Amino acid sequence: MPSLPSAFTDTLQGLPGYRPGPFMEVHASGERITSLRLQPLKATDAAALFPRLTVTPVPWSRYGYYLSSRPSFTFDPSFHAGAYYVQEASSMFLEEALRQTADLQQPLKALDLCAAPGGKSTLMQGVLHPQSLLVANEVIKPRASLLADNIARWGAENVVVTNNDPRDFARLEEYFDVIVADAPCSGSGLFRRDPEAINEWSQENVMLCSQRQQRILADVLPALKPGGVLVYSTCSYAREEDEAVMDWLLENFELENCPLQLLPEWHIVETVSPRHRLHGYRFYPDQVKGEGFFIACFRKKGMAALPKKNRAHLSLLPPREAARIIPWLKKDGAHVMMLHNGEVIILTPAMAEELPLLQKNLYIRKAGVKAGQLTAKDLVPDHQLAVSTCIGADLPAIELGLEDALRYLRKEDLQLNGTQKGWALMRYNGMNMGWAKILPNRTNNYYPKEMRILKAGTAEP
Ligand code: SAM
Repeated sequence: MPSLPSAFTDTLQGLPGYRPGPFMEVHASGERITSLRLQPLKATDAAALFPRLTVTPVPWSRYGYYLSSRPSFTFDPSFHAGAYYVQEASSMFLEEALRQTADLQQPLKALDLCAAPGGKSTLMQGVLHPQSLLVANEVIKPRASLLADNIARWGAENVVVTNNDPRDFARLEEYFDVIVADAPCSGSGLFRRDPEAINEWSQENVMLCSQRQQRILADVLPALKPGGVLVYSTCSYAREEDEAVMDWLLENFELENCPLQLLPEWHIVETVSPRHRLHGYRFYPDQVKGEGFFIACFRKKGMAALPKKNRAHLSLLPPREAARIIPWLKKDGAHVMMLHNGEVIILTPAMAEELPLLQKNLYIRKAGVKAGQLTAKDLVPDHQLAVSTCIGADLPAIELGLEDALRYLRKEDLQLNGTQKGWALMRYNGMNMGWAKILPNRTNNYYPKEMRILKAGTAEP
């Protein structure tokens, strides 16, 4: 790892909690920390997923775990089934921040404004009430596609993926109960993980990032309800991107800062902004088992107006056709179905209520779970349905061993003789990876071509 330039380390002097010696050492050590967060609706036992590794909990995340070494996730079929999301541990603290500031027992409308590739969105989906609506937004188009894929793999019905500029959210005035702005930043907190980024660091870029962060926040704040929570985070150590942005927020908007309770054994550093003594939280890699991170929470002052009733309605799937989809779905869920470009989409009731307004104001990349195409006789099921958490448990399914699972994920031919004909889920360790159609003399592999494993190699023996 290249050494940290003094132009950078000089800017850290005097920062709350900064310890130059241990900070340099941890960067020089090359230590790599691997952590992930389970999708509890698919997998609850992290140790069973990685029997050869030591698995220990991330202290501030209910489903977050450290792994003793980094396995090849590409060759783990559970990864492709959406059993977990590989996420840096410090940023999982968002979970604790939300637990302490928002009422997670209630269905909420939440926005993850800078969402790709989806770490915070999948975390938020997991902690919000299931009848909540989560809008996961990403302004950069190809990154919005990546976000949509990761949300599909996570499998939840109650997420809408949008591809908008933050300023577009001003159209949804006082709409969201929670907004998370995990802003683009100069990235110094990730230097240990991504040493290449060290060469790109400059104080000019820090200043540009700080201005952009302010612009993003100013653009989105009209969309926060009075009484609603704003979470601001970066993976930068720079005061200009952290404490200075807190002070700027307080000076320009009707916000109050929300201090958080920390446990001493977490070794998270509480920081206080210079002008208004606002509380934020710094994560240093020599003190926490994770990368550099900053987070602060605010509440918008004032009283929320009564929500406006949405007048527009979705055109729902006629009951006779909806009845053909029901057998493919979990029995206990309240599903709403609509037809979009010839495909059936499964939504939660809360999302069905809000979708017309979102469609009117935002560019929607994905909403709910695509069930598939209804033909005269059949449903041609979509991959999203296979990896969703709303799919029925009793559909025809074939459990594959590791080798066949990897063949399936490479979209190679499978020999599944002697099995029932028709659509079948391909499973690994009880988790759905996708569909295959079993015909009398062959099996058609329906794993999406664009998602197939291209990398050569195999899982560790
Ligand atoms: N929240 C993500 C996660 O946890 O997986 C990481 C987000 S990353 C720190 C910041 C994101 O902001 C990037 O996806 C980037 O494309 C996006 N971004 C870049 N410029 C932006 C802008 N002007 N407005 C909003 N988002 C922007």
